[in-house]
Amino acid sequence: MDEYGRLLDSGIIEKELTIFIHKRRRAPLLLEGLEAAMRRLPIHHEAFPTLRSKHAAVKAGFGGEQELDKVFESYSFSMKHGIFHDLSLSSSTFFQVDTLFITPWYAVLFEVKNISGELTVTENPPQLIRTLESGQVNGFKSPIVQLQSNCELFRDWLYSRELSLPVYGAVVMAYASQRIEVFDTKIPVLFPSSVPSYIRKLPTTSPLLDDATFNSLLSLLVNGHRQFIPYPICDTYSIRRSDVRTGVMCPECGVIGMEKYKAGWRCLSCRRTSRDAHKQALRDWFLLFGDEMRNKDCREFLQVDRQQTAHRLLASMPLKSKGTYRDRTYTMELLLESEKRT
Ligand SMILES: [Zn+2]
Repeated sequence: MDEYGRLLDSGIIEKELTIFIHKRRRAPLLLEGLEAAMRRLPIHHEAFPTLRSKHAAVKAGFGGEQELDKVFESYSFSMKHGIFHDLSLSSSTFFQVDTLFITPWYAVLFEVKNISGELTVTENPPQLIRTLESGQVNGFKSPIVQLQSNCELFRDWLYSRELSLPVYGAVVMAYASQRIEVFDTKIPVLFPSSVPSYIRKLPTTSPLLDDATFNSLLSLLVNGHRQFIPYPICDTYSIRRSDVRTGVMCPECGVIGMEKYKAGWRCLSCRRTSRDAHKQALRDWFLLFGDEMRNKDCREFLQVDRQQTAHRLLASMPLKSKGTYRDRTYTMELLLESEKRT
């Protein structure tokens, strides 16, 4: 089976020939990690305001990207093309593309923004300035500069594979209700609904890549993609381990500290039971601390006394283990796990 067939078979790509969609966009791990931190830190914790505002920004960004996804899902393009969501490639440096639309004639990189308030993009210094109704003003990275740098890095990426394609870029504002002022630039700023007509107007006179080269380019993109794993939340936000509340959270009422009994977990607050509430707790541990878990860490975090119980729970999960009985440690492949859960 050739590479293309293998990719089709593995489900990495969805349909043959004209439409080639990289795996659906998933909620960023960072979002999940921030949620884990917020449920396990006291609300008055010093890191809480930062976690909350970061969570809102990441969530809005993800929502914005999904708005563009909807357009690509509902619109069919007649030319041969590939669509990649959340593509992370490495050129002279690591770079992430919100959406890449690629054809044998050209590539387009889309940088999606979903930021509320009145927005102004300035050229010098390159910034995105947001003014809220309350008068609060915040500065963000300029999406124009981000996009230009990504286009450059993508050109280098192609060049180092002896491929050459015109590379275009567009900034997409997720919602038509957003107001934005941009300095005079050649980079278009679009709303999702105008993306198909923008694409249709790009020149497609003579194909630059033949079918075999284009297919191998698609394979190179799939294989070159490196999923971005964020640093453990406690390291990123300098949260002390001892500040994190331990215990299994009741999936019904949200109270932390379920009690282990033979068949599972019992909530001391609402009295309901769960067979597998420890799974989320262990996932929280890896999102927050990220390194190798020992039996002792597991006992402390799940609040179980017996080493044998912790061992059984750890062994029942798809974790990687290394070492022998006494010093065995476990790691979780966070992406693999969340893929199974969705
Ligand atoms: Zn409960």
